[in-house]
Amino acid sequence: MGQEKKFDYDLIVIGAGSGGVRAGRIAAGHGAKVAVVEESRPGGTCVIRGCVPKKLLVYGASFASEMEDAAGFGWQIEGAHHDWAQLIAAKDAEISRLEGIYRSLLKNAGADLLEGRGVITGAHEVTVNGTAYSAERILIAVGGWPSLPPVPGMAEHAITSNEALDLPRRPDHIVIQGAGYIALEFAGIFNALGSEVHVVYRGDLPLRGFDDDVRQHMVTALQDRGIHLHPETEIASIAAEGDKKRVTFAAGDDMLTDCFMAATGRAPKTNGLGLEAAGVKMNDKGAIIVDEWSQSSVPSIYAVGDVTDRVNLTPVAIAEGHAFADNCYAGMSRTISHDKIASAVFSMPPIASVGLSEAEARDKHDVVIYDSRFRAMRNTLSGRSEQSYMKLIVDKASDVVLGVHMVGPDSAEIMQGIAIAVKMGATKADFDATVGIHPTAAEEFVTMRTARQES
Ligand code: NDP
Repeated sequence: MGQEKKFDYDLIVIGAGSGGVRAGRIAAGHGAKVAVVEESRPGGTCVIRGCVPKKLLVYGASFASEMEDAAGFGWQIEGAHHDWAQLIAAKDAEISRLEGIYRSLLKNAGADLLEGRGVITGAHEVTVNGTAYSAERILIAVGGWPSLPPVPGMAEHAITSNEALDLPRRPDHIVIQGAGYIALEFAGIFNALGSEVHVVYRGDLPLRGFDDDVRQHMVTALQDRGIHLHPETEIASIAAEGDKKRVTFAAGDDMLTDCFMAATGRAPKTNGLGLEAAGVKMNDKGAIIVDEWSQSSVPSIYAVGDVTDRVNLTPVAIAEGHAFADNCYAGMSRTISHDKIASAVFSMPPIASVGLSEAEARDKHDVVIYDSRFRAMRNTLSGRSEQSYMKLIVDKASDVVLGVHMVGPDSAEIMQGIAIAVKMGATKADFDATVGIHPTAAEEFVTMRTARQES
């Protein structure tokens, strides 16, 4: 007897970001009938309001220091000035082009795009704009959203990275709260383009969780670039004053600024999704709890990406979404390793790392440290005093490289290759046996021979 299809779809994905689109189109490619629901623009955080537009602004801002450095090489660049509105318009055009590609990816895979807000109204049901659709499986890939500290005036007067990418005018003066990825990336962009930038954070060093030598190195590097750092500083309130903002600090002093930006972390966007009613378990941060197969406490409901708060990076969401589709629609059995994932902060200078920080490594291992601080060759003629920093953390017993860190030009590009070696379990002897490419900064990673003396 022929089986009637019980559901409208095999799979409904909520969220057309990196993880959701990958899962949707791979599942459709495996023959599943798929719908992807999106309330905003296909592309999600990374493409529309995160990694991609941010990196375009970083590129745009980087020309400022390139032009400064060029003078030492004989260039005379006079009268250069930057047009913020032109950069934003060019960036917007590129983001629209990418959004179009995301739409076609889904269309070409044969998946339906349902535009509107999707709410879970049953273990097998998603309601979009008042219409209920049933599915054998539901995948939640709604990502995260900036979270603001509960400070008077914050909700009314703070912008977040969402708005910072679309400001009609570049602020002459900006206060950024937080000292994580987003705070330092935007500090670099605005500072390079000429804004006076103040970074205010509650810890003693920026970048909690990063290697302490990297954090310390960044303090000097950011200050040398002209960014004003305010450690151990809490904000008491923000108020409007004409078209400016008055930021009052917990210590009682205050500062008048054109723009206040909160870069104080992101939270899973699970509010109002119908998850509690459906019985989907979440942790105390509102993240969906999933197992290694990305399956939630409700067997028909899965989740990938930032909404699960595992490792909140685009390539991780993509890998999780792809594995989900392969497992559920192609009979595979793939899990994603969340270990030794390289990442970068596109600050100025940029930071990249893979593996453990020294403090994390020392927790479990007896370690040997190799590090190097040097002035990159181009800085000799450019006259820039900025130094690069490189560090290898090695397990004394096995010689395995546990962590690699770099601050300096091209660190993200360099770290991608290093990450393969670290993921494969390379030892310090493997690094030593590798012949460097000369003259590069990267060759330092294979020429560090003298371990740091422990004091
Ligand atoms: P981060 O977690 O990196 O940094 C948050 C910052 O805000 C920290 O300095 C934190 O301080 C501070 N903070 C948090 N809550 C408060 C509070 N209530 N009051 C005062 N300060 C507070 O988050 P981001 O927003 O920078 O980025 C979010 C995530 O997005 C990142 O973790 C990363 O996963 C991802 N991302 C990745 C990028 C990349 O790969 N290049 C780029 C941008 C984002 P403290 O340390 O003291 O808690």
